[in-house]
Amino acid sequence: MSKIIIFSGAGISAESGISTFRDSGGLWEEYDVSVVCNHDSLEKNESLTIEFYDKRRLDLEDKESNYAHDIIADLKNKYPNDIAVITQNVDNLFQKAGLKQEDVIHLHGFMNEVRCQECSDIVNIGYRSLYDSNNGFCKPCGAKLRPNIVFFGEAAPMYEVLNKEVQDCEFFIVIGTSGNVVGVNMIAQFVEKSILNNYEQSDAIDDVLFDKVLYKKATDAIEEIAQDIEEFLSEQ
Ligand code: NAD
Repeated sequence: MSKIIIFSGAGISAESGISTFRDSGGLWEEYDVSVVCNHDSLEKNESLTIEFYDKRRLDLEDKESNYAHDIIADLKNKYPNDIAVITQNVDNLFQKAGLKQEDVIHLHGFMNEVRCQECSDIVNIGYRSLYDSNNGFCKPCGAKLRPNIVFFGEAAPMYEVLNKEVQDCEFFIVIGTSGNVVGVNMIAQFVEKSILNNYEQSDAIDDVLFDKVLYKKATDAIEEIAQDIEEFLSEQ
């Protein structure tokens, strides 16, 4: 387990042109998320749900990592055992910044992947439509494929990994999340040292629980954060 957790949300990818959940504009507004992101979406609105994720997957193709992803990737590559990169994001911008798939813990799934609804076999389909992968059926078992994304109301198996990482965490860094989905307050209370970086205050985050608070763009905050990480590790 790592001493440092870098925990990110939609805000870290905002400057790469991927809209956050609550921002206006973008794909989130074209669709009713309660219709296409819910635990019963595939049952009730299968084609619309698949279309929504197909569009979001395609939308990632021309997106580039930004300075914040790039610096975090460099830090993780430099200190692979000391840093855990944990994200709520389903995009592939940490991978585009140079991290291997296994170096990023995606709590809510990964947009480039589809998963069999029966045998859970996972296939990376890049930016293609789900239907372009064996007509939407699992090759090993023949059952239907689905986006490998955690929908609202579904279990998130990777939360167990987050909980394990938190046990050994000494330095918790939060970047670009409103804290509405994963409660970061509890973790900040639990660890010795913490930083919060968001563009603006969130009602769901009690910023007095953090040792340092940076309300600015992630690309403007990341150098200071990287310096704090380097200092923390040099003191160990
Ligand atoms: P959110 O939309 O609820 O909150 C975004 C936060 O980022 C806000 O607190 C805002 O102040 C901050 N922010 C915006 N621009 C920023 C910037 N340039 N620099 C730093 N901070 C910035 O996002 P969330 O908390 O991650 O929750 C949304 C859920 O939706 C997550 O579960 C996530 O999986 C999903 N989602 C993912 C993506 C993605 O993969 N890129 C995009 C949208 C939503």
